Amino acid sequence: MASVKAMLGDAVAKLFFHEWTITAAREVSPHFRRIELTGENLREAHGAGDKVQVMIPGTGPRTYTPFAPDPGRGAVSLLVYLHGEEPGAQWGRAAAAGERVRVFGPRGSLPFSTLAPAVVLFGDETSFAAARALRELRGPEAPLAFVFEVTHADEAEAVLAELERRAADAGAARAGPLAGGRARAADRAGPPRRRRSGAVRARQNRSRPCARRSRPAPRRTPGKR
Ligand SMILES: Cc1cc2nc3c(=O)[nH]c(=O)nc-3n(C[C@H](O)[C@H](O)[C@H](O)COP(=O)(O)OP(=O)(O)OC[C@H]3O[C@@H](n4cnc5c(N)ncnc54)[C@H](O)[C@@H]3O)c2cc1C
Repeated sequence: MASVKAMLGDAVAKLFFHEWTITAAREVSPHFRRIELTGENLREAHGAGDKVQVMIPGTGPRTYTPFAPDPGRGAVSLLVYLHGEEPGAQWGRAAAAGERVRVFGPRGSLPFSTLAPAVVLFGDETSFAAARALRELRGPEAPLAFVFEVTHADEAEAVLAELERRAADAGAARAGPLAGGRARAADRAGPPRRRRSGAVRARQNRSRPCARRSRPAPRRTPGKR
């Protein structure tokens, strides 16, 4: 049975959250799904690095990073990391075109527009969408570097490469490399290599990620999550 807190959350969501429609949902890899949503408030511009909170009925809100905004269609995409059997992961796994969801936001989270020209973003699987949003904002030539600690390095590389490729297919000229630099996995010989555009480092001897979310660094102004 849903908890009182969850029931209250559902009631609040009906009052204050926007209703969006899932227009497409597909598996990018075994642990990632990309979900495209449309909503009236997505016709307004929002900032790269904003977050949205998806209300999961009976549970509460879960936070995701929108990317690939299309204000003309009132659309954005989310990349959901399917880390286990938790509510957000279950929602991401089951999401299907035609479903309606209640969403709070987009609203400010990571202050990408105020960062220095050169940025190094450190993160994990839940930061891939933020990396893509930062690349969309800055363009392919911007001095950005991405360092991810992940559970499955090969899968992560493929997902990041696909994020890039899809952007190019869609004619998003401002997309650029996310996964371009392949770091040697930590559980193989040698230390991780750094390259200009990206590095993916596998977690060693862990069955699950050790960090839920890493903050990007450096940044000039404090941001809320
Ligand atoms: C600003 C912001 C932006 C985010 N953007 C994204 C995004 O674009 N895509 C995305 O997938 N996630 C994103 N996240 C992370 C996401 O909100 C959390 O992972 C969230 O907890 C998932 O909800 P859940 O119900 O699946 O797990 P929860 O019910 O919240 O957690 C239950 C258990 O699962 C564990 N857990 C939660 N998340 C993870 C994880 N990532 N890896 C391993 N164990 C985990 C927790 O330790 C806990 O024990 C973002 C978070 C923030 C704060």
